[in-house]
Amino acid sequence: MLAETPLRRQAALRERIGALELDGLLVQSPPNNRYLTGFTGSAGLLLMRAEETVLITDFRYQAQAPREAGRVARIEVDQANLWDRLKRVLGERPSGRLGFEAHVATVRDRERLEPCASGRWQPTADLVERLRTIKDAEEVAAIRQAAALGQEALAETLPAIRVGQSEYAVAALLEAALRRRHSQWHPFPTIVASGPRAALPHAGTSERGLEAGDWLLLDFGAQVDGYCADLTRTVVVGRRADERQRQVYETVRQAQRRAIDHVRPGMAAREADLLAREVIVQRGFGDAFGHSLGHGLGLEVHEAPRVSPTAEGVLPAGSVVTIEPGIYLPGWGGVRLEDDVHIAPEGPVLLSDNRVELLELV
Ligand code: ZN
Ligand code: ZN
Repeated sequence: MLAETPLRRQAALRERIGALELDGLLVQSPPNNRYLTGFTGSAGLLLMRAEETVLITDFRYQAQAPREAGRVARIEVDQANLWDRLKRVLGERPSGRLGFEAHVATVRDRERLEPCASGRWQPTADLVERLRTIKDAEEVAAIRQAAALGQEALAETLPAIRVGQSEYAVAALLEAALRRRHSQWHPFPTIVASGPRAALPHAGTSERGLEAGDWLLLDFGAQVDGYCADLTRTVVVGRRADERQRQVYETVRQAQRRAIDHVRPGMAAREADLLAREVIVQRGFGDAFGHSLGHGLGLEVHEAPRVSPTAEGVLPAGSVVTIEPGIYLPGWGGVRLEDDVHIAPEGPVLLSDNRVELLELV
């Protein structure tokens, strides 16, 4: 990442800080810190004031922090205690009114903050997250690359799946294929859910062995330059799909298609959710789609904007969201299809391949 990118983001954040009449902001969230400085470590306090940006971190990042963030922040490495160092840095000039990330700070952090500054601490919410919602070309490219990598890993895994294998064995094949293609990490625990377990939207993965005629739902992520892709495919294993399976699958596929084709920047998020939900309700499966249509995607696998029936606000131009309708029938199984979409100013652009024709692994 060029130094201009974090500096531009810092300038945008300073504007927001100024608009709230704050003299600075303490950023604790690692993805926010990464967004503003390029620092990828897990421990850091980032102090943004009008005059300067200071990144306080510990010994483990002594070499890494200056390399990653040295051009866009003053780096302070403390061997003993980050909070003591924060106090010293804040003591260099009168602190005034400072913001902290109320959605990140723990009660314990809040206690530690109090003696650090002479001025008052003011809770803030989602200041950096709101900036992160709008992706630049580099961020969109990273998500697209992560999706491509995930699709290649899936294409390698599917032909190796056999009746009798456990879900763990399938997850191991998929995760190894992701890592061989340089996914930095699995941004969330891979879901491999077979048979009736496919009816559990957040099933995790188990020792259950695949049986002929099972649904097999794979929900997995890939990560490139810190940016996540999030994909779900559902296939039938061991024999051809039956009528009921075809009917449910086709309903989910059409619901997803409608949402992908018709989401627009500026559309109310709940209206976007309805695009898919209406199809599922019309076919009589409304009660079987109990989760949101999607979520924002970026440095975190769940970020703004939410795409749900209760979401406030609109889908901003430049955001990236998942579109993942599903139908879950307890005892029978379920189908979910998930793709990643850039809500570009001129309309939706798929970042994943949306290859969702029904696959029967026989
Ligand atoms: Zn997913
Ligand atoms: Zn998702």
